[in-house]
Amino acid sequence: MTSLTYADEAGFFGAHGGRILPPHLEAPMAEVAAAYADAKDDPDFQARYEALLADYVGRPSPLFLAQRLTAELGGAKIYLKREDLNHTGAHKINHTLGEVLLAQRMGKKKVIAETGAGQHGVALATAAALLGLECEIHMGAIDIEKQHPNVVRMRLLGAKVVPVESGGRCLKDAVDSAFAVWAADFGETMFAIGSVVGPDPFPSMVRDFQAVVGREARRQILEKEGRLPTALVASVGGGSNSLGLFQAFLEDAAVAIYGVEPAGRGLENPGDHAATMTLGTPGTIHGMRTIVLQDEAGEPWPVHSIASGLDYPGVGPQHAHLKDMGRVDYVTATDDETLDAFQVLCRTEGIIPAIESSHALAYAMKLAPTLGADDTIIVNLSGRGDKDIDFVAERLGME
Ligand SMILES: *Cc1c(COP(=O)(O)O)cnc(C)c1O
Repeated sequence: MTSLTYADEAGFFGAHGGRILPPHLEAPMAEVAAAYADAKDDPDFQARYEALLADYVGRPSPLFLAQRLTAELGGAKIYLKREDLNHTGAHKINHTLGEVLLAQRMGKKKVIAETGAGQHGVALATAAALLGLECEIHMGAIDIEKQHPNVVRMRLLGAKVVPVESGGRCLKDAVDSAFAVWAADFGETMFAIGSVVGPDPFPSMVRDFQAVVGREARRQILEKEGRLPTALVASVGGGSNSLGLFQAFLEDAAVAIYGVEPAGRGLENPGDHAATMTLGTPGTIHGMRTIVLQDEAGEPWPVHSIASGLDYPGVGPQHAHLKDMGRVDYVTATDDETLDAFQVLCRTEGIIPAIESSHALAYAMKLAPTLGADDTIIVNLSGRGDKDIDFVAERLGME
């Protein structure tokens, strides 16, 4: 199967994906897969989801022509898909609402997840509060200290935040801990993954919930420009905001597509970046076959990015397949390039972007001057940067 857009029956995108699980998690994951297969084709489920996107999230998000940025760079027109204007300030709410609606449809009382920086945890706690489900978020003890404001947000939203003291007390340990609780209690609980990663059906399901971004962008650019864009650019952590934008354009061979990974402090040394597609090799992580930054024993490398939402040593399996097929170009932006792009957007457009989204901007700013004035680039502005200002102020010595 060589489809760019859909997984096969076993959840594989070409050589990547699948459902690689210990035996005790097979039944709970099969239950989620069956429930989603059913919900996906249910017009009532889709109508409830779309109503929440409109009235709660505030969709459609605008496609905004960044005129001063375009003028400053010269070359292609830059359009920003304003996911930063969603309720909660990023794209993640698009899929957490879908996941919690599915849990509710399955008759579950609770959703459970792990979170690293806390952004997935906050988006999930938001959706759970709205729909009246319990929410339990596992978080490494070290991350809890580092991400205090997100811990407060989750607690205010009624979630139970469980500190994980085992192992390195970070994201990986939180994943193990959350899966263990789920396995023991899946009668009442659904696991909710935060990106297009993990075992099937999550890469397809989260992608489907995010695909609204690209469907809107396609309609909006046709309305504004009368033709498809020259290029799409989005940041890639696990890969959900990027696939959300890309999915509607994958079959349009004339549209160039760029996924931007964090090159961090540079690509020379493991531990300085999270450029999975650029330097990773095929492997297995979190229940899927995909491309992984790993050592010879298959242990994931430590990763670094100034954007906590991008530091993941794996990537969604559909991305790995799109790379194999040559459909998407995976490129990188360093921490420094990203900080520059962040400041340029603040100054030229009055928009403070998330540091994750600033990776996409950094690449678009290199690309635009190489194109003509008739060309257009759509950048997915996946989130707003209010959460990042203390960190940026410190980096820039603004105190
Ligand atoms: C989480 C996050 C990302 C990275 O996750 P993807 O699944 O790769 O989209 C990017 N931007 C923002 C604002 C985020 O919160």
